[in-house]
Amino acid sequence: MVVLLVVVTPFAYCEYHENIEMCVKGLSKAAVSLPSSAHQAVEMTVRLMDNEKCVDRKCTDCGVAKLDGCFKECDDELEVSFRKWTKDSIIRKELMQTDIAEAKQDLYTKMETFARHVYNVKRQHTELKCLKENLVDNHVIIQEDFAENYTLRQQNVITAAHWAPQQVTIFTAVVYYKENNELKMSCTVSYQMNWITTGTLFLSSIS
Ligand SMILES: [Zn+2]
Ligand SMILES: [Zn+2]
Repeated sequence: MVVLLVVVTPFAYCEYHENIEMCVKGLSKAAVSLPSSAHQAVEMTVRLMDNEKCVDRKCTDCGVAKLDGCFKECDDELEVSFRKWTKDSIIRKELMQTDIAEAKQDLYTKMETFARHVYNVKRQHTELKCLKENLVDNHVIIQEDFAENYTLRQQNVITAAHWAPQQVTIFTAVVYYKENNELKMSCTVSYQMNWITTGTLFLSSIS
């Protein structure tokens, strides 16, 4: 068996995407002609989303300044608020309260590289789709999540068990292989609280 590709797909959202999404949404309440979604906003700054020159901001026909029109009617000092994921000692969604000028500058800085980020994500999806469609015998594609520890909770639990729950490591993955276009899914549960051991157990279970 040949493992063609292992794709790690975390179940959680991308921080970069989420922060732009929340910033655009907050700004669109004040700048009403600004789309309320990050994807629509980035598409306004790029003429061709599949052209590398456009997404890398090397093309003179497009660019972040294409959003200027959306702020024409706005007072720079108008207050706006939006949430942002911040990482100090803890990771949380912080409420940002600022004015249009500062939020717009923040958005423009992020948008510079966001087009390339969106392009890369789309390319990866397309490549994966292509690999799946052209799989040959004895080749597999493994799409996995990060292994994580999971606390087992039981119904009608007694006090002693409530304070000393059992933990396991779970490791989920989907294996694609060619056999009547069958899709195989697998989840390994291990009492060993060691993610590498759990991943190894999974690999030995499919080989
Ligand atoms: Zn992203
Ligand atoms: Zn362009």
